Amino acid sequence: MHSQNKRSGNQPKLVLCTCSRCPRTLYPEEEDDEDGCKTSFACRDHENITPKFQYCLNASITDDTNTTDVVIYDETMTDALRTECRVMVLDKGNIDQKVLPPEISAVIGVPKLFELTKRADNSISVNGISDTPDTNVLQPKSASTSTSLTPQTPDPKRKRPMQDVPGEKRQKM
Ligand SMILES: [Zn+2]
Repeated sequence: MHSQNKRSGNQPKLVLCTCSRCPRTLYPEEEDDEDGCKTSFACRDHENITPKFQYCLNASITDDTNTTDVVIYDETMTDALRTECRVMVLDKGNIDQKVLPPEISAVIGVPKLFELTKRADNSISVNGISDTPDTNVLQPKSASTSTSLTPQTPDPKRKRPMQDVPGEKRQKM
């Protein structure tokens, strides 16, 4: 299923970091140590955790006829942004989960081609985001099948070269 024209209906909600031992979302805390100010992620219930940096974006996709709430998971976001979540948070300093990184804000309201898949729990996830303009918007009523062309064998440990998204310059909001 292909859908076009992303527009932000509800404010997109982004989770960047979770506990390695529970699903809790972790928020950054400023911490003073000998080297100066440092950002750390701590879980209320667990000590000595390793923060798990993974994108999880709740957003809406709008086309001519309706709006669909979707979840965009880590691999798709990493592909679309060409930036791993850890890099986005730690190296680029996008540590405030309530503020969308400019790389994500730049995509809001811009027509994109989305590959959607309905999951077992009836939520809809995005398998791919591309810039391919498609004037013939497919609009099947049922979202039970995926037309994804990418092999469904994701390797979360896959490393990809770091590169900036073309034509996209960092801008502070
Ligand atoms: Zn925890």
